[in-house]
Amino acid sequence: MLNIVLFGPPGAGKGTQSARLIEKYGLVHLSTGDLLRTEITAGTELGLKAKGLMDAGILVPDEVVIGMIDNKLSQNPDAGGFIFDGFPRTIPQAEALDKLMEGRGISISSMIALEVEEKELISRLLLRGQSSGRPDDQNEELIAQRVKEYNNKTAPVASYYKSQNKFHSVYGIGEIDHIFGQLCLIMDNLA
Ligand code: ADP
Repeated sequence: MLNIVLFGPPGAGKGTQSARLIEKYGLVHLSTGDLLRTEITAGTELGLKAKGLMDAGILVPDEVVIGMIDNKLSQNPDAGGFIFDGFPRTIPQAEALDKLMEGRGISISSMIALEVEEKELISRLLLRGQSSGRPDDQNEELIAQRVKEYNNKTAPVASYYKSQNKFHSVYGIGEIDHIFGQLCLIMDNLA
């Protein structure tokens, strides 16, 4: 069973590559960003609270996303494996994920990071904002705030997996197919 954490800053291409990976490897995609946006669309109390933070480029509280992931793991007892996208985003989330997996007799196989320079991230996100309408993709200041949040709170999560010898990385600029090929090489070595 392959359980992968796909890692990288906002705009690194996690969503695009996840879609391909789930198709090829038959994995279940768990994106906390998507789960939160579903709550917002449904107008739940959780969604209402999360929206303010997300629109400001700030992480939502750990216990909120950990609870969502716990539920999703329970709803997919027969999954062949999971791709975590946008989670864990803090060290406490990474620790909680290990516990959630351990309680189910499974574990994270590997973290694969997509490496993309900040300048490229900003232009990709501004472009995405034109078509997606996502409020957090609309202006450079807000995007810079998300990248700052990433550098402060999320980048250290890589060390967590490095210390478990589970860290791999791929350069995330270039042809989407080429990047996918690099990811597959790593995946096939894990299998
Ligand atoms: P991106 O990676 O492009 O910023 P996401 O859809 O993954 O987009 O996340 C959008 C927003 O949702 C984040 O800026 C944050 O506010 C919130 N969010 C998503 N995942 C998490 C998480 N694991 N922990 C805390 N906040 C999260």
